[in-house]
Amino acid sequence: MTKMHYHLIIPIPLTAIVRAMIFVTIFPVLCKMPLYLASINSGSNGNCYYIGNDTEAVLIDAGISCRETEHRMARLGLDIKNVKAIFITHEHTDHTRGVEVLSRKHSITVYITAATHQSSRLMLSPELYRNFTSGFLVRIGALKVFPFPKQHDACEPHSFTVSSGGITAGVFTDIGSGCEHVLHHFAQCHAAFLEANYDEKMLENGRYPLHLKRRIRSLKGHLSNEQALEIFTRHRSPQMRLLLLSHLSAENNHPQLAYNVFYPHANGTKIVVASRHVESEVYMIS
Ligand SMILES: [Zn+2]
Ligand SMILES: [Zn+2]
Repeated sequence: MTKMHYHLIIPIPLTAIVRAMIFVTIFPVLCKMPLYLASINSGSNGNCYYIGNDTEAVLIDAGISCRETEHRMARLGLDIKNVKAIFITHEHTDHTRGVEVLSRKHSITVYITAATHQSSRLMLSPELYRNFTSGFLVRIGALKVFPFPKQHDACEPHSFTVSSGGITAGVFTDIGSGCEHVLHHFAQCHAAFLEANYDEKMLENGRYPLHLKRRIRSLKGHLSNEQALEIFTRHRSPQMRLLLLSHLSAENNHPQLAYNVFYPHANGTKIVVASRHVESEVYMIS
């Protein structure tokens, strides 16, 4: 077992049963159902985020291979049979690479907008995909998944919050600017994956060609550490317990640098940097 924090955020890469036992042991008086979340991978090489309760879960994006997703979930003690749906944020391959095989092999329904589906050219089995609409809640068992639009250079980009038992977690990556939708939903979250893509000086002085630097910085590009920090400090809920800094650039950021930007402002929120190379721990939010 990894180190445990005896407060309301517990990293526990264990089976659902053992997690439930710990929950009962540590929080006998709480009636809220916990939410579990983990980054399976995070970065321009692939994004996949797990959010679920004790019996049901969704993946937000599936941007690494099916096999690697299976291995990482198994290491975390997360049962892939609990994954009832994959929600796709946009068509870039770092968010869709593993979708077809995961969906087909495990009979997981994919939720994707019609335009993103067309643009992605994903070959999805007709009985295993559904369209979602911005602003309309999708119920996956007891999980409530809420899609909302965001600014990014894709045809119809969305982000999602996932709620269960009064706890809300959100995925906020691939965002050029914090529009009103992003800010509104971020403010609802007890836990969030928030993009901290680049350090502004590293990007400026780095070796990327000018057109790529402009694209990354644009209103439809990615959030810098500084932009993400402003969203965090100005819009977070007092109930926010966990912030996973996500989609870090390999070239224009560094995990310790991003952590150091946020840590002085944590004010009770646990700050974690999601890795481009390995899965995070499983965090329980209750
Ligand atoms: Zn991306
Ligand atoms: Zn993207």
